[in-house]
Order: sequence, then C-alpha cells, then structure tokens
Amino acid sequence: QFMRKMQNEPILEYKKGSAERVALDAELKKMAATVHEVPLRIGDKKIKNKLERNQVMPSDHKHVLAKYTHATKDQINEAIEVALIARQKWERVPLKKRADIVLHAADLCGGKYRMQLNASTMLGQGKNIIQAEIDAACELIDFFRFNAKFALDLEHYEPISTDVSTNQMSLRGMEGFVAAIAPFNFTAIGGNLASAPALMGNVSLWKPSDTAVLSNYIIYEILEDAGIPSGVLSFLPSDGPVFGDVICASPHLAAVNFTGSVKTFKTIWRNVADNLDKYVTFPKLIGECGGKNFHFVHPSAHLDSVATGTVRSAWEYSGQKCSACSRMYVPASIWPQLKEKIAAIHKDVKLGDVRDGSIFLSAVIDGTSFNRCKSYLDHAKSGKDGAEVVLGGGCDESKGYFVQPTLITVKDPKSKLMTEEIFGPIITVYVYEDDKVDEVLSSVKDATPFGLTGAVFAQDLKFIEKAREVLRDAVGNLYLNDKSTGSIVGQQPFGGARMSGTNDKAGGPHYGIKWLSAQTIKETK
Ligand code: GLU
Repeated sequence: QFMRKMQNEPILEYKKGSAERVALDAELKKMAATVHEVPLRIGDKKIKNKLERNQVMPSDHKHVLAKYTHATKDQINEAIEVALIARQKWERVPLKKRADIVLHAADLCGGKYRMQLNASTMLGQGKNIIQAEIDAACELIDFFRFNAKFALDLEHYEPISTDVSTNQMSLRGMEGFVAAIAPFNFTAIGGNLASAPALMGNVSLWKPSDTAVLSNYIIYEILEDAGIPSGVLSFLPSDGPVFGDVICASPHLAAVNFTGSVKTFKTIWRNVADNLDKYVTFPKLIGECGGKNFHFVHPSAHLDSVATGTVRSAWEYSGQKCSACSRMYVPASIWPQLKEKIAAIHKDVKLGDVRDGSIFLSAVIDGTSFNRCKSYLDHAKSGKDGAEVVLGGGCDESKGYFVQPTLITVKDPKSKLMTEEIFGPIITVYVYEDDKVDEVLSSVKDATPFGLTGAVFAQDLKFIEKAREVLRDAVGNLYLNDKSTGSIVGQQPFGGARMSGTNDKAGGPHYGIKWLSAQTIKETK
C-alpha cells in the first residue's frame, strides 16, 4: 500500500531561462573555474597526501577539474580500524534513526546540493544536463528514500511468541566492514553502494572510481552533513589492486559491494577464496558487472519506437550505461526502413562539450576507453566479419575523448562486434532472414556470457509471450517494447543475471537484506 504513495523524484527540465538552468549554469562556471582538492577521509581526518592525481574533463582533457591522491596500504588499514571502532556504536543506533539520516541526505541532494551533484557529474563524467539530472539528482534521491522505506518495512516481521517462549529477530549489521567499490558511469551508484549497507548498521570503506572522484566526494559530504557519524564511511580513492589486496587480506571483511567489470569482480572472488581461512565471517560478494545488451526486433515491431529506443539506449551517455544496447537483431524485411529512420535521427544527434545544452552525447570517459572504442572502429573499418560502418565511425581525441555515435552491420552474429562489450557509442546490427526469427531469438541468450538487459520489440503479442519464455534466464532486466536502459528505483529494480553480476536488484525491496546478519533470540518463560 505504501508503495502506491511512494513517488520518484521529479526530473527538472532545465529549459533555457528557467530558474534551475540559471542556477546550474552558474554552478558549472564556478566549478570549472577551480581545481578542487579532494582529500581522503578516515574518521575525523581529511588527508591530502601529495594530491598528485588529476581528474580531468573527458570533453576537454587539458582541463583539470580535481586533484586527489591514492590511499596507501597503511591508510586503508587505518580506515578499517577506525571503521570497526565506529561500528560498535553505529550498529546499535535504531534503524529509524539511521533511516532519518539517509532521508535527510535525500532532501539535501534535492535542495542545496543538487546543482553541485549535477555539475560535477557533467564536467567530470561527461554527462549532458538531463543525463546528469536523472542520475546524480533523481536516482540518488530515490535510492536514499526507497532504501530507507524498504529497510523500515523489514522490521514489520515479528516472530511468533508462545506461552512458553518469547521470540525475537534482531536485524543487525554484519560483523566487520563493507568495501564499496564504485563505478564512474553513475554517480548515484557510488552513493548507493556505500550508503545502503550503512543504513542497515554497517560501516563502509568507499573506493570511488578515479574518474568520478569529485561527484562521489560531494555525496560523501552530503551524508556527513546529514549526520552520518565519523568513521561510519571512509572515502578512499585508491589503486584498485592495492585496495583489493588490503580489504581481502583483512579478517574483518564482511562484504564487497561492487559495480565494475566482470574481470575485476572475478579477481575479487579469487582473492577472497585465497584468504578464506582468515575470515571471521564468510564475506558476501555482491556485484553488478557488464553486459552485451540486445534489442531484438520482430517483423511486427513498431519501427518508430525501435528507432528512437535504439538511438537512446545505444548512444545516450555514449553507450556507457551498463545497460546500453550494443547488439541488435533485425529482420531483413524491415531493415531498409529502420536504417533510414535511425539515420534520420543520427543526423540531428549532436556530440560536444557538456556545457552546450543542445548536445545529445559527449566524450567517452578517458583515454583507455577512447582507445578501446577506436580499436573496435578500426576492426569494423577493416571489413572483417563482413562488417560495414553504416553511420558515424569517426573519433578524435585532440581536445576531448570524442567518439561519434556509430552503427555497424555484420554478417556473422557470433563475431567480435556482436559479442564483446565495447562500452562506447557503438551499436552492431545483425540482419536476419525473417523466416529464421524463432531460431535467432533462441540464439541470443548464449551468444555471450552476459545477462544484464535485453529488449524485444514486437506488436505480435504471441511473440512477446514466446520471448518471455525463451529469455527467462537470459537477462536480469527484460524490456518488452521499450529500450534496454533507464531503470527507475522502485519501478524496475536493477541487476544482471549470469556473468553480469549477482543479480541483487539495486532499487528493489530486497536489497537491504544483503547487509544484515540477523540474530534470532528465543527466551524461555
Ligand atoms: N540502471 C541503469 C539503467 O537502467 C544502468 C546502471 C548501470 O549502468 O550500472 O540504465
């Protein structure tokens, strides 16, 4: 019943001349004019070390936005000690009080910090205004509010007591600390990874991505402003392998809350396995990894929605959402028309600096990402696997890491471009013979080890029913007649199946349970 009353944070539109646009433009100017110094945060300490690392703007890589430093091994170990001390008090704070802090943080995000969250996400992570707003403002606020609501719901269960015994279940945080390892592509995910375990009574070591240090630090400050006690969250930009080795070697590792690549997540599992005999508790490993998400088009599909859905899913935020569509299956009968429709939209899709309010997409996040995209573009241009570049295909890193929105067709559905994750604004299309539609649908699931998102477009409702069955275990988030991106907290809890992660559904009612180690108590009368 409560869910009917819960509302997602409304998206501000930032129309030219609106109060919010004026405020955001002012914040962008101010933020870009300063080099922000981001410290490490351990307990009450703000530590700057040498500040030798730069977070630059992806669309203008000479522009240094923030300076920060990587935590040393000793500092990460110190953060663990401080966290374990903070935990002793924090896990005894009533859930209602912890939830109030998180709800207060949500209000601060929607109020005095909204423009800072958006500006840091635009300048630092290359999002346009709306992509920043739906992430750094709305999704973050929704995570805070819905997590608090879902957590309080968990307390409704009361074990049955009888005339011989009184039974209780006390929802406690885990014994130890949580390592929250955040990605660059969603500011909100960083906030969620660190704060959701804290809400349930845990302490978190927060390792932001090197390319999202500034926006993640702003969230850290918001949570502090909202009243999270010192030591409950540490902020530790770090070298990935160093951070991984230190947390995995600690006997007190209670959980890893991770979003990033499959490769890194596997490294963490192996590292935990190697240390298994040291641990006080079995660490819980929760991960959200990559994908090779598909749009499957049936001959009956509504072409305009396929075209707009595909352009948005594949090219919005330069294809850097984990959920972005990067392979597509289209029947030969409608491909010529669909291609025209996508090409017509492509003409108006503008690539540029994030501060230009009319852009659709900006640069990819960094040089590594640029080079990876370029190598796939080169592969396509070589014509291997029958590849042909139909739209876009260019890239230029002289000022920023710009990759054009690109569409490629291939003759082989098992080829590299159809099966490897690219994480850029590149979509590969395989055109199938109409009479093979069922066969091709059945091949989609095992074409890659991933299972994050997928979409099926068909007006033939029998086919939609069939697709639900065939794709039952194929993806964590299935979209029917809609694009594969854009999950909303409380509406489409998000998580990947198969090698895309542990499918724990962030933004859903069961997410909080992962962070508990409940104690059941029977007292005989
Ligand atoms: N929840 C996001 C979406 O549905 C994707 C999250 C991610 O990229 O990890 O588009």
